Amino acid sequence: GMKAQIISIGNELLIGDTVNTNASWLGEFLTGMGFTVTMVYTISDELEDIKKVITQSMSESDLVICTGGLGPTHDDMTKKAVAELFEVGYKLDEKTLNHIKSLFKERNIPFSSSNKSQAEVPENAEVVFNKAGTAPGMWFHEGNYLAVLPGVPYEMKYLMKKKMAAKIRKAFGETGYVYSHYIKTAGIGESTLSDNILGDLSGYYQNGVSLAYLPAPGGVTLRLNAAGKTQEEAKGYLEDLSEIIYRKAEIYIYGEGNEYSISEAVGELLVENGMNIAVAESCTGGHISNAFTDVAGSSNYFEGGIISYANRVKAGQLGVSQKDLDDLGAVSKEVALQMAKGVAEKLGTDIGISTTGIAGPGGGTKEKPVGTVWMGFYQKGREHFAIKALFTKDRLINKERTKMVLLETVR
Ligand code: ATP
Ligand code: MG
Repeated sequence: GMKAQIISIGNELLIGDTVNTNASWLGEFLTGMGFTVTMVYTISDELEDIKKVITQSMSESDLVICTGGLGPTHDDMTKKAVAELFEVGYKLDEKTLNHIKSLFKERNIPFSSSNKSQAEVPENAEVVFNKAGTAPGMWFHEGNYLAVLPGVPYEMKYLMKKKMAAKIRKAFGETGYVYSHYIKTAGIGESTLSDNILGDLSGYYQNGVSLAYLPAPGGVTLRLNAAGKTQEEAKGYLEDLSEIIYRKAEIYIYGEGNEYSISEAVGELLVENGMNIAVAESCTGGHISNAFTDVAGSSNYFEGGIISYANRVKAGQLGVSQKDLDDLGAVSKEVALQMAKGVAEKLGTDIGISTTGIAGPGGGTKEKPVGTVWMGFYQKGREHFAIKALFTKDRLINKERTKMVLLETVR
């Protein structure tokens, strides 16, 4: 197969100011185009470093994608490095010049000579016009291929998708496709899912088929990959693996697609059943309501929430018994149940759910250690119940895990 490498240029990447998201995005993009990405270099803005690494990388791979250091300031060296290593001068790109001038006019800022230099490119470059910014992309064919792109992530992605992908396909022919399919699970850990539920599936690994476990506090995502000449072909190779995963793990699967969320899955069920929901949140402080409203169309089933962080609010707004708060504590089954019922009645919904827990890292007792969370469930005409969980000492992870368990239980 064809090999590709990525070079990320910028001091900010080396000192840890900026996370190198360009490299991970490009890695996924190039893999999806059928390339094997063999190396990612992250390097400084030093002229000599840039020249050395581009030369090295072009000798090792068929395609090199380089991002960053194209700006107008003197610390941006990439263009100079490329011109020097190819031993060429510069040419002015009129289209880019006019574009920059009109951008400056629009924004009412004076045009300086360093801005004009942004429209200059090495003589052997094929200019890739950048309507999303000022620095154009560049495409070189010197033995192997080199694409040079701005560092600003949205400009880089725009040029890659809209311009470079077509040039790459033209240069390399159909390199094939790698298709990724995501299956989302909740309510089970990575090792139990792999060891006890799915077992060894390597018998299904052929035609580039592979399976990866992507664990997160919210649940494990399964990524299934396959390679083929076309997207359809690659997709076809995944059918058997996908089927066996569903057969073994169906109860843990709530949906498909990397972006699909548990709150979306719950929302779809509520719509199907013509029901609506409200949330009373203590330890999650709005995290559950936020998850519901991340989904477009959530107004069809999500009525609202009450963030009842203080006991006064639990009692006053949700009608939780002051005696139970005093005797049993806010983190208790009784309080979780009353919160769920209280919010459903107050907001007039079919279902009410609640969270009350000790998020940490401080607080907690022997009986109720940090990470203890009670979740309440109320549905008109049904038995009313609560569940208890013991999560971690980390506040944010506890919020996320509470969300997952709560919503998975609603589902
Ligand atoms: P411009 O024409 O806007 O000056 P440039 O090519 O010079 O673009 P840089 O100055 O290197 O790009 O970076 C512009 C912005 O993009 C900075 O905020 C930088 O932190 C960010 N950036 C650069 N490289 C990366 C990367 N690899 N991943 C994520 N962000 C990046
Ligand atoms: Mg830079």
